[in-house]
Amino acid sequence: MTGQIRGLHHVTSMSRDANANNHFFTATLGLRRVKKTVNFDEPSVYHLYYGDEAGSPGSVMTYFPFPHIIRGRPGTGEVGETMFSVPEGSLKFWQDRLVAQGVEGVAADERFGEKRLRFKAVDGDMFALAEIENDPRAPWTGGTVAGDEAIRGFQGASLRLRDSGATEELLKFMGYHHADTNKGIKRFALAGGNGADVIDIETLPNMPRGELGAGSVHHIAFAVDNRADQLAVRQALVDAGHNVTPVIDRDYFYAIYFRTPGGVLFEIATNEPGFDRDEDSAHLGEALKLPSQHEHLRSWLQSHLPEIKDVA
Ligand code: ZN
Repeated sequence: MTGQIRGLHHVTSMSRDANANNHFFTATLGLRRVKKTVNFDEPSVYHLYYGDEAGSPGSVMTYFPFPHIIRGRPGTGEVGETMFSVPEGSLKFWQDRLVAQGVEGVAADERFGEKRLRFKAVDGDMFALAEIENDPRAPWTGGTVAGDEAIRGFQGASLRLRDSGATEELLKFMGYHHADTNKGIKRFALAGGNGADVIDIETLPNMPRGELGAGSVHHIAFAVDNRADQLAVRQALVDAGHNVTPVIDRDYFYAIYFRTPGGVLFEIATNEPGFDRDEDSAHLGEALKLPSQHEHLRSWLQSHLPEIKDVA
């Protein structure tokens, strides 16, 4: 593979309650909801996207809120923690804010010399904010957090694996290099990426496999610039023996998926066309957007999906 991967594109997780999820990512974390659509394969369930102003690749956290699912069981073969980048000196603000809002599991730590704050989202899903020096990415400041503190996008994600060997080889194949090892965590990094450049691997040979449910990451997506690069990456993965889906049109990007040897589902998503393809940039995420194949369900969906109440 020859340098097409640009870092993370998005991270997609499961939750139970659409309103609690929306409130947490907009009112607590200060992200912008950049799309309100449905799960293309299960259109009775929302697909909510949160990110920076434009929903730039490398900033986008997405959720499927299934109202009746039970919590996942954390384990191996899945993402352990999703990590956001925040400005240096902002963690005191975040600690006070998260504690004041009753967020669970708020705890400071340090990893690879970076000050961090770990916490749980509403379904127990694990996140960390890491203070990153001079992250050039512009934050969304039209929401509830000012620019001196606002999230810049992902720093990356950590994977919990029983055996990391094949996944490490895969990451190197995708352009990552082994940057450091500390406290049993191996850090892989991508040079020249979009800022969401880090994958940490924690090897836990005795931990049972995770069970998917609310609070679990469903998959992580890596960014490529365009469809030509995606096809080149797909061919390289197939040639290396991976079982990769055909290209799937997700309206806001094109996607391919494959299950990694360590059990984590990876996606490769294009940076084009982006979230402004079907609504004005000033109003991203406000109206219910449906893919054309589900447009005929609109009136049923509008009366059956829970109404999402945004903070004023
Ligand atoms: Zn995805």
